[in-house]
Amino acid sequence: MTGPACHACGAAELVPFADLGTIPVFCGVHWASRDEALASPLGDMRLAYCPACAYVRNVAFDPAALVYDTTMDTNLHHSPAFQTFSADLVRHLADRYPLKGATVLDVGCGQGEFLRELCHVSGAHGHGYDAMYAGPAGEDPSGAVFHSTHAPLDDSTPAFDFVTSRHWFEHLDDPYGFLVRLRELAGDRTVYGYIEVPDACYDLATAGWEVIYPHVSYFDAYALRTIVERAGWRIEATGPLFSGMFRFVEFSVNADGPPRSDAPLPDTADRDRQLASVAGFADRHHAERDHWRTTIDRLIAEGDRPVLWGAGSRGVQFLHLADPDHRLAAVVDVNPRKWGRYLPVTGHEVTDPATLAELGTGSVIITNPAYRKEITATLRQLGVSAQLLVA
Ligand SMILES: [Zn+2]
Repeated sequence: MTGPACHACGAAELVPFADLGTIPVFCGVHWASRDEALASPLGDMRLAYCPACAYVRNVAFDPAALVYDTTMDTNLHHSPAFQTFSADLVRHLADRYPLKGATVLDVGCGQGEFLRELCHVSGAHGHGYDAMYAGPAGEDPSGAVFHSTHAPLDDSTPAFDFVTSRHWFEHLDDPYGFLVRLRELAGDRTVYGYIEVPDACYDLATAGWEVIYPHVSYFDAYALRTIVERAGWRIEATGPLFSGMFRFVEFSVNADGPPRSDAPLPDTADRDRQLASVAGFADRHHAERDHWRTTIDRLIAEGDRPVLWGAGSRGVQFLHLADPDHRLAAVVDVNPRKWGRYLPVTGHEVTDPATLAELGTGSVIITNPAYRKEITATLRQLGVSAQLLVA
């Protein structure tokens, strides 16, 4: 039996390599009642990879199972570490590309923070589209116009000079079709673009807590280069970001002069490293699940009250796989919108990190090493002396 053709390179068939069973479909949703949270659906995660370009995909993904709306909250902007990173990115893009007076199309704009800041800093105006956008629709003082819907990418799409898409590309059922459509809409204009995704080099070389149902595709350096070039774009620059958790690609069409970066593009050596990660992933993933269940048991047996810090998608996945029977003493998060609400499938309640001061916990588990410094500093402010364990 053969798998589907690779979406990134189109040159080979995808080969199954890891079956994660069922996982929460709505890992970005938090519920008002525990019963609703417990009734939240599960979906199948069966990963397959491309031997030619190292693209990875959930071949069991069902687009009908996952409808995006304004109840979802995948916002990362509550973290100071992410805010600083995002502000630096805006300055970089404003310095590197001719954005003054330009029109930016932001596909998957979230709550609009990035597009607002990009318009403000660069003097661009823009259109942001996201079915999860819960703010006021229409024109914003920043020069951005927000639409609480998916980007139509038809003839009603405003002519754009710069297209941005952060943490949305990996959610698409047809990422190649998306890039081809953007290329068609660019026509013979000079258009630049910026796409940012989770870095699959990291995700597939570790436990894979970010291997979550909404992420259909997993791009390493080579697969990301491959799909962008195959869709008719030129790479301007590409590389890792945010402590290696994210990966970006800047691209263009009809641009004059050489690419903005002369760094060598990812090649088959990068692909081969990713193929090695893929080969070890299933064993590593299942060993990590067992390791964290055992670790939580041991800490409790020693009289500790371990907690999880971070109720984002990685945290939800961790709880589902490592703490389905609620042995952790608490789950805390810096996003106030999540406090007092319940996480999908497992029904863990999220609380304010300030509650840790009274809890007597000696171990704080985190699933994202990029927030280590920020969380260490907050624990110190709260007067909590606990070890930080990175899952
Ligand atoms: Zn491929």
